[in-house]
Amino acid sequence: MDFSLNDGQKMMIETVRRFIAEELQPLENEVEETGFLDKSKAQAIHDKAKALSLYGMNMPAEIGGGGLSNMDRILCEEQFGHTTDILIRRAFGNVYEPLLHCKGEQIERWLKPAVAGKRTCAITITESGAGSDAAGIKTNAKKNDKGWVLNGTKHFISDGEWSDFFLVSAKTGEKEISMFMVDKGLAGFTLGKDQKMMGLRGTPHLELFFDNVQLEDAALLGEAGQGFKLAMGALNVVRLAQVGARAVGKATHVCELMLNWANERKQFGSKIGDFQMVQQMIADSVIEINAARWMVYHAAWMLDQGMDAREQIAMVKVHAAETLGRVVDRAVQVFGGMGFCKELSIERYYRDARIYRIYDGTSEIHRGVIAKSTMKKGAVLFDVHR
Ligand SMILES: Cc1cc2nc3c(=O)[nH]c(=O)nc-3n(C[C@H](O)[C@H](O)[C@H](O)COP(=O)(O)OP(=O)(O)OC[C@H]3O[C@@H](n4cnc5c(N)ncnc54)[C@H](O)[C@@H]3O)c2cc1C
Repeated sequence: MDFSLNDGQKMMIETVRRFIAEELQPLENEVEETGFLDKSKAQAIHDKAKALSLYGMNMPAEIGGGGLSNMDRILCEEQFGHTTDILIRRAFGNVYEPLLHCKGEQIERWLKPAVAGKRTCAITITESGAGSDAAGIKTNAKKNDKGWVLNGTKHFISDGEWSDFFLVSAKTGEKEISMFMVDKGLAGFTLGKDQKMMGLRGTPHLELFFDNVQLEDAALLGEAGQGFKLAMGALNVVRLAQVGARAVGKATHVCELMLNWANERKQFGSKIGDFQMVQQMIADSVIEINAARWMVYHAAWMLDQGMDAREQIAMVKVHAAETLGRVVDRAVQVFGGMGFCKELSIERYYRDARIYRIYDGTSEIHRGVIAKSTMKKGAVLFDVHR
């Protein structure tokens, strides 16, 4: 068992970390205050990241991606947690793994342009009546002689405004769900309002409306009725990366701010970090962050061994998201009134952290998965020596 990182991994982490500190963090306040990322600044960070081969790192090298292993990707994603959602999207890309199921002409039309950063893609599953119950959607696609006709609505779609095409789940039969690649601009496809959120300022979250949208046969991902399963399977690694690893990175960032404050802020003639009750908040944060990090690394290692890590990723999703929540809450407490005040970034981290327990499957849904699997498989899920 070797827990050390090799020189290549250390250099990669250093490159991403420096890029975030020099190019992205300086933009955070402006995005927070204006509520959007200026298009020319978005283009500039995209170009600089691409020049350093930091765009689409999770995608295979044969199609123009970075070809990173799951472990290496996770190490980068942990660093991404040190900045905000919209800046990550524009600089490093959000090229979703389900696209790897593209075949034939789909590779040139949707997959490769997404990996190259020429076309942005959003993932489009949730509806107002179907969130946790992703199979309970009403959006449907019916076969006709030209391909498929898509009808329905979606909501909460991250990055909708910036996206050129959408990976959309739709019913293609009574109990059959398929995934389609739907280009912006098709007749009958309209973008709705930006649904304002508690945090993640700068990232638009849109409603989408499909009214008799004619899709070509080539828009279907995988086989009819199979694409949804393929997509949900591929989303496992997205969950590990974009929720698990980023939550660890964000908690790490906030913990360091909390530590610095505890060392600088003086009350009763002492730094507040000398008070045991403040020390407990620091200690608990450090313990939980380290536990979450090793869970993330272990799940990534399992994926790289070709092992099934579904349950481990569900555990990561719950633990890393909840760790982040506890760490940002303690940080507000340690900062006192300044933690609540908009003059510092702590209150923003507090708001941004809340979504981690909700999207990509709520904590309750993942606890349900873990409990059901454990009931079925037994101690193998908590006793590694079985
Ligand atoms: C900022 C943001 C960005 C998002 N981005 C996207 C996106 O890009 N694409 C996309 O498709 N979706 C996106 N979503 C949707 C997100 O994935 C859903 O909000 C999430 O899956 C929860 O669904 P819901 O909001 O409908 O809540 P509900 O499913 O209505 O859940 C409400 C509550 O009931 C609980 N609950 C539900 N079912 C069970 C159960 N079986 N057992 C126990 N408890 C249960 C939940 O845990 C939760 O506490 C985004 C949402 C937000 C807020």
